[in-house]
Amino acid sequence: MTADPRRSLPAVGTLLELGGVRRLLASAPRDLVTDVVRSVIEHARQAATPAPIDDAEWVRAIEAALVQRQRSTLRRVINATGVVLHTNLGRAPLATAALDAVRVVAQGFSTLEYDVVTGTRGSRHVHCTALLTELTGAEDALVVNNCAAALVLSLNTFADGRDAIISRGELVEIGGSFRVPDIMAKSGARLVEVGTTNRTHTDDYRRALSTRTGALVSVHRSNFTLEGFVASVPVRDLVPIAAEGGVPLLHDFGSGLLLDLSPWGLTGEPSARDAVKAGASLVMMSGDKMLGGPQAGIIVGKADLIGALRRNPLARALRVDKLTLAALEATLALYRDPAHAVTAIPALAMLTTPVMALEARASNLVAMLSANGVPSRVARVARTEATVGGGAFPGARIPSAAITLDVASPELLEAKLRGGMVPVVARITDGKVILDLRSVCPELDDELGALVARALA
Ligand SMILES: *Cc1c(COP(=O)(O)O)cnc(C)c1O
Repeated sequence: MTADPRRSLPAVGTLLELGGVRRLLASAPRDLVTDVVRSVIEHARQAATPAPIDDAEWVRAIEAALVQRQRSTLRRVINATGVVLHTNLGRAPLATAALDAVRVVAQGFSTLEYDVVTGTRGSRHVHCTALLTELTGAEDALVVNNCAAALVLSLNTFADGRDAIISRGELVEIGGSFRVPDIMAKSGARLVEVGTTNRTHTDDYRRALSTRTGALVSVHRSNFTLEGFVASVPVRDLVPIAAEGGVPLLHDFGSGLLLDLSPWGLTGEPSARDAVKAGASLVMMSGDKMLGGPQAGIIVGKADLIGALRRNPLARALRVDKLTLAALEATLALYRDPAHAVTAIPALAMLTTPVMALEARASNLVAMLSANGVPSRVARVARTEATVGGGAFPGARIPSAAITLDVASPELLEAKLRGGMVPVVARITDGKVILDLRSVCPELDDELGALVARALA
């Protein structure tokens, strides 16, 4: 092999001639392999770790780098965090009915904007509208890209260059990239803050009303609770104030809960129907939180206001695609039979599974690991607490079951689980790796067991 005289690194052409590398060309384009070879050499030049010492090592390094390069960046993972609606892990998994609907619509052409009765152009806004009004009791509905878009569109339509009145207790951050004040500012609305962080009263809103007022805004405290010396104004008490000002009341409701989950111990969150009943002009929510569907922003409310939203040119920029509409329509349709929805919508099924069932699954997994030679002092069944996530039921601690892995280096094991072919996302508590089963689909248990056994081997 001809080597770089200074660094004793081979030339690109030399490595491309190796039998093992030539074999890679059978399944990958030459330009890609060449680029990967170049990057492996560059890596060896710079890395602190020793460069490959022989041809076989070079081939292995190139093959590994090629696999890495060809792998999608968007990959499936197993969510063993116990956070069911994990924003970083894609929030709600879709129901089978939603997946089927996406496939059917994506595979060919569809009635996205076509009216088969008249044979003329239709509107994409008709999809999901009837289901949404039926399920929430609202007059009309519009679907946009996400709840953030719903808020921007609503504010821009009714409060561009005007005042949007909001309580200081609701200027919240929902996730790293969603801060209510920033979103409001981008909509063109002038933020008028009233009240204090912990207490806001009806009079605070009333005093802020003026001829410049465009809208009253109420934001649901999705991801935190406020306790102690606190006061806030419920939506129903804001309704008369908005009417006095002759402006719409915009309610950023967030979670999109469509069912009463109190029989399963999840209490304290209003449903979308309750939110509509409270009387806001428009209620906004996410499609991929408690609703259990695709990422979407759902706006329901008064027909004339929804009409105004549709006519705003921004609605075009924030519109959803056919895949989202297909998945959302199929998910919403499941709610017509609530008992079925709870088992057919994965997020709801996960949240309502009895803890006994999770414990049984955890025992099976421990037995499976034991059969693979994992000692019983390493893998155990434990009671844990899971959370809903996704900015809903912030205080809820749901009884759950997990397998705990007690090893010398939990950090190393956690990283190994994350680094496998199918990453397993776990957490470390009290020096143990915890795999919470509430956020794992039961169909994945065998695969999870195999991945854990491999990481422990
Ligand atoms: C989650 C949430 C949002 C953001 O929703 P996206 O669909 O992620 O844009 C906005 N407002 C509230 C109250 C929320 O809970």
